[in-house]
Amino acid sequence: MTASGPIRSVVIVGGGTAGWMAAAAMAKLVRAGVSVTLVESDAIGTVGVGEATIPPIRNFNALLGIDEADFLARTAGSIKLGIEFVDWTREGHRYAHPFGEFGFDLDGVKFHHYWRKLHESGAAGWIEDYNFCAVAMRAGKYLPPVADPNSVLSRLAYAYHFDASLYAAYLREYAEARGVVRREGRVVDVALRGEDGFIESVKLENSGNIEGDLFLDCSGFRGLLIQQALGTGFESWAHWLQCDRAVAVPSASAGEEVTPFTRSTARAAGWQWRIPLQHRVGNGYVYCSNDISDEDARATLLANLDGEPLRDPFVIRFEAGRSKLVWNRNCVALGLASGFLEPLESTSIHLIQTGISKLLALFPDRGFSPVERNEYNRLSITQLEQVRDFIIFHYHANQRRTGDLWRRVREMEVPDTLARKVALFAEGGRFFRYEDELFAESSWIAVMLGQGVMPRRWDRLVDAIDPAEVKDRLDRIRAAFARAAEAMPRHHEWLAKHCPST
Ligand code: FAD
Repeated sequence: MTASGPIRSVVIVGGGTAGWMAAAAMAKLVRAGVSVTLVESDAIGTVGVGEATIPPIRNFNALLGIDEADFLARTAGSIKLGIEFVDWTREGHRYAHPFGEFGFDLDGVKFHHYWRKLHESGAAGWIEDYNFCAVAMRAGKYLPPVADPNSVLSRLAYAYHFDASLYAAYLREYAEARGVVRREGRVVDVALRGEDGFIESVKLENSGNIEGDLFLDCSGFRGLLIQQALGTGFESWAHWLQCDRAVAVPSASAGEEVTPFTRSTARAAGWQWRIPLQHRVGNGYVYCSNDISDEDARATLLANLDGEPLRDPFVIRFEAGRSKLVWNRNCVALGLASGFLEPLESTSIHLIQTGISKLLALFPDRGFSPVERNEYNRLSITQLEQVRDFIIFHYHANQRRTGDLWRRVREMEVPDTLARKVALFAEGGRFFRYEDELFAESSWIAVMLGQGVMPRRWDRLVDAIDPAEVKDRLDRIRAAFARAAEAMPRHHEWLAKHCPST
């Protein structure tokens, strides 16, 4: 193949969540005549974590035609309506980042401006009372959303928690049934073409070479192709996101405590996740190795589980940052090979998904074009930086008294892109979503208010409406949301009835 020749073969290196998501999507969406081969090594294994997602994952599954009940049963999955942040703003405090919108806009003015004015005078409850996902989270309730906009249930947005290794196995079955060829073996060498440095083939330890036109590096933190073979380089964000390790352990089933939300609890040297699945709970402590030893992190995690640990905790090392290019020559990196942001907002699997959709939209079916490759890199990098800023914000806006990490991140200088956003919101509750920014206004509102950034002013149009009328509307919204949540089944009961794990 030449740089301008058509793509006839795609080789995916790695069979973790990234590799099998890419394989499934390629099998379904890439036109006939293109072969897809995935190589993975059972001896190396996968990273073994990654269980919480955000709502767009449903579009990915829908695109593949996956049946939700079957998927939840086979991945021991549960429903996620948002994240509860405990002790992040300050010790003893908690807030929610729910999916879905707050209240209803009125006369073209965003809901949170009305809320802001009423809250000032004590006439409104906390903002979460006006977000249906937050209300359902608190009650531990769930029912699938409906399309009818007159129903409160239309306000429900949701994602999943699932066992990532079961999800990869599920997608493997899907992809193999549609012609993807799996090769077992360890890649020990990568051959580059003389004239342009494109990847020509990968060499397996015991079973020969695999040639390809387009290579997807899904090899995890190793970045076997994008870093080790192509030497693309890495941009570190460790000065902002200082946590560089996690210790993880599953614990015994949560039973009735299969909450429809992820919990993130701040600890002295980082934070702990709790992700309830049907058959177990995923737990982990993300920490900064400058501030705590692996041993102490492990002990802290074990002391804060709500069920018995099911194995020995294992430590994972990482560095926040991104590959300088995510598409270099004829190689596209997906998943951990493309970069890493800690799982505070459950964004990694989503970034795999958007990496795949961008690749399909810019698929080099007539050969490689620098214009398309540059656009892919520009879009991917912008999106990663936007997510990075959102995560940095959670750390930066803290008033915690314990833990030197928290003092450092509070005092550090943040990226200009983030500083501008926070200043604008703090001034007058205003927010602009740039390009394809993943987190919409409602997410930023939830986290900015939750972390203690209260706008100094509200939109003056709010003052044109009779405060009694605004209060009446807010009261009615709050009452309707509370009533609807009350009438819903408990989340674990709904799961047991509709999609018990198999
Ligand atoms: P891996 O799972 O590491 O897979 C790499 C693959 O490459 C494996 O199949 C391996 O066998 C293969 N391989 C490597 N080298 C070779 C070789 N030489 N030859 C052949 N094969 C090879 N994301 C979320 O969205 N939500 C979360 O809640 C979440 N939590 C996380 C918690 C932690 C602590 C960490 C570190 C990550 C978390 N993530 C989360 C990220 C998520 O785990 C990953 O994005 C996802 O699992 C994809 O990983 P991957 O497929 O890129 O890599």
